[in-house]
Amino acid sequence: MAFDYDLFVIGAGSGGLASSKRAASYGARVAVAEHDLVGGTCVIRGCIPKKLMVYAAHFGEYFEDAVGYGWDPVKPNFSWQKLIAAKDAEILRLNQLHTKWLKDAGVHLFPQRATLVDAHTIAVGTERVTAEKILIAVGGEAIRPEAIPGIEHTLTSRELFHLPQQPERLAILGAGYIAVEFAGIMNGLGSQVVQLVRGDNILRGFDEDVRNTVYDGMTDHGIDIRLITRLEKIEPVADGLSLTLKDMEQPVVVDAILCATGRAPQVAGLGLEQVGVELTLMGAVKVNEFSQTTVEHIFAVGDCTDRANLTPVAIAEGRAFADTEFGGKPKAISYDLIPTSVFSQPEVGTVGLSETVAAAHYGHDEIVCYKAKFRPLYHTLSGRTDKTLVKLVVHQPTDKILGAHMVGPSAAEVIQGIAIALTMGATKKDFDNTMGIHPTAAEEFVTLR
Ligand code: NDP
Repeated sequence: MAFDYDLFVIGAGSGGLASSKRAASYGARVAVAEHDLVGGTCVIRGCIPKKLMVYAAHFGEYFEDAVGYGWDPVKPNFSWQKLIAAKDAEILRLNQLHTKWLKDAGVHLFPQRATLVDAHTIAVGTERVTAEKILIAVGGEAIRPEAIPGIEHTLTSRELFHLPQQPERLAILGAGYIAVEFAGIMNGLGSQVVQLVRGDNILRGFDEDVRNTVYDGMTDHGIDIRLITRLEKIEPVADGLSLTLKDMEQPVVVDAILCATGRAPQVAGLGLEQVGVELTLMGAVKVNEFSQTTVEHIFAVGDCTDRANLTPVAIAEGRAFADTEFGGKPKAISYDLIPTSVFSQPEVGTVGLSETVAAAHYGHDEIVCYKAKFRPLYHTLSGRTDKTLVKLVVHQPTDKILGAHMVGPSAAEVIQGIAIALTMGATKKDFDNTMGIHPTAAEEFVTLR
């Protein structure tokens, strides 16, 4: 049977773009469908706009820090509307660039929603097209705890990026990546932030020293973090939204609430089940190590497979799929040692195992940790009490470094380099034999005793 395309990709986010361009580079006839802006979560309503807002949020402190360095104090004005407009202009530029790159690669774009009609047929807009292979790369979407009365009054990160007015008082529900990142952004931009956390600390799953250092940094910067809190209901009141918290007499009244309680694969209505593509219990597309679903010629990459929901992972999965299926180079990616960062304030960079996970895996006796917590040189004159943390988790019998963690300015930039060393199997001795760059925070990694 002759198909219209060799590959049809549903979703032009990080995974869909990478795989479609790579497949086309091998000569495949490729089409991609995207009903929203080309670029997906990362470019349009995730990593990129978030990072721009993180930069914006830092300025408030820079103006204050400058005084310690001899600059006269200034009383800066911040315009939310100007920031949102500048950020939107950059996102539009990137969207256009990604659309052009698709065209340059010879990939046909359908700017419409696509659904599966049968195992080789896709309905896209009013058309029906056929493809030999299909790739599902539809990403995820924010989820909200529906059981909380009034939860419909909350925003997700998608809407927060476009609020016409900056909320003076913001409540944030959740303690993961998005919650702590937005707490830092909005606090830095001048909103009064209260963060509601159901557990006993933020950033579950991260190293305990990292969690504690970020918690201390966030509270020092004025974020009101309420731990072990249960949000019982949300009600509109005359001056905003009232949040009733369990065991608290006084409700918290805010102008807006960000619900950052996780994301889920966005696979409903695609027609996957009717063609035999199975989902996991958590609703993600079930795939093997080559991103192949339970239907031989249908594949899935990125957040809709809920493996490691990070942009570079989706890109790597997409390229590995294209190399395997169209390039004659079978490739499965490794999920070990994926470095990650939380662009909280203070920032986190981390790769490998936390102390807790390493001890559980190898036994306490085999793990030794080296750490330093110090006031970075920059803050000696700024006058702030911010602390930087560097930490190595080492497997004593082999001297191999199992985890490297940092909290502090540029932690993500530092850990990216350290991730290369860990991927190459670096030992503590290798770190000790490395010359430091002085004076930096990063040099602490090679001087830890
Ligand atoms: P996460 O899964 O990271 O965190 C969800 C948070 O919501 C947790 O703190 C969880 O608490 C809390 N939570 C869940 N349900 C409730 C509830 N009913 N009431 C109160 N709290 C609740 O999700 P995010 O939405 O923050 O991020 C989604 C994913 O996006 C991340 O896992 C990450 O993969 C990706 N991402 C990556 C970024 C980066 O690389 N810098 C930035 C942003 C997102 P508990 O811990 O107790 O379960």
